Amino acid sequence: MKYSVVLIPGDGIGPEIAHSARSIIEASGVEIDWIVCEAGAEQIEKFGCALSPSTIEQIRSRGVALKGPITTPIGEGFRSLNVVMRKQLDLYANLRPAKSFNGVKTRYEDVNLVVVRENTEDLYAGLEHMINDDVAESIKVITRKGSERIVRFAFDYARQNGRKKVTAVHKANIMKMTDGLFLSVARQIAMEYPDIEFDDMIIDALCMRLVMNPADFDVMVMPNLYGDIVSDLAAGLVGGPGLAPSANIGAGMAIFEAVHGSAPQIAGKNIANPTALTLSGAMMLRHLGETKCAERIEQAIYSLIEQGVSTTDLGGKLSTSEYTDCVIKRVQAAR
Ligand code: NAD
Repeated sequence: MKYSVVLIPGDGIGPEIAHSARSIIEASGVEIDWIVCEAGAEQIEKFGCALSPSTIEQIRSRGVALKGPITTPIGEGFRSLNVVMRKQLDLYANLRPAKSFNGVKTRYEDVNLVVVRENTEDLYAGLEHMINDDVAESIKVITRKGSERIVRFAFDYARQNGRKKVTAVHKANIMKMTDGLFLSVARQIAMEYPDIEFDDMIIDALCMRLVMNPADFDVMVMPNLYGDIVSDLAAGLVGGPGLAPSANIGAGMAIFEAVHGSAPQIAGKNIANPTALTLSGAMMLRHLGETKCAERIEQAIYSLIEQGVSTTDLGGKLSTSEYTDCVIKRVQAAR
């Protein structure tokens, strides 16, 4: 079967790592017709907007995209295109697994957790305004519908993937209405899944427990902003930004991307680690039902990293392209 997948290379290190991920995915044996769509600041000069409606339409019609990181201007300029895509396509679930790699030196060896981040609400709703020159306000939106579907997603994911526990993360002691609603919905939904253990934890306590004893955690589900922060923390626990993949999932549609950003400081130097985006590609292949191809890629990456074959961010000696060639050879050998 030949799949049709939208590829958004992005900017910064995006084009380099997207090229690597695409080559490695192709080496796994899957046949993909890539629809390459550009997005980012450079598009404003060419087409007058950073994200063209045709890119959104392509993703809507193909149903699957692999996306490199895109730079978001800080404190000014256009809205995050990542947030816009998630919102316009209603990709409500952001799945971010973090698993220890043999061969990557970190404080812990047994991290195996999954952050399930609500992807469309909370302080990311974009409802911000100046009340006067000295006061700015941002509105936090939590809905029953949004909370129900993300919590249900987390429990279904736990059940389908042999996970034992779901932890709902919140700050309902302070935000009694918004996070209070999220927590009460989580408690209600948990009763529908008696086979999965459930608990809840306040976000600050969770951060402390995560860095002290990450093995205590399994699947964690939380509103948007906490999910953004905790998933970077989780990426740090397993070795840094170059290793953490993710999926943005909605009804009949999904975009796969690395957790990390566009890393402009290292763009164009052929040193970025393409592992996170490539593992996101493996998640995409599983989503398409191409489990064998996904396993070939994951096994190749795990075994090479275990043997110390890696890019410089992990203490290795290889450039992006040299590392990509090693992964391609290992993937092809497994076919
Ligand atoms: P970042 O993730 O780009 O970089 C953080 C640190 O990690 C930097 O030191 C960087 O060099 C390093 N790093 C990141 N990815 C790496 C890789 N693959 N290999 C080796 N080192 C890597 O975070 P930032 O600097 O806060 O953000 C830069 C830009 O990316 C911002 O404009 C931000 O808005 C955007 N961003 C985009 C996405 C996305 O497209 N989904 C996600 C996060 C941030």
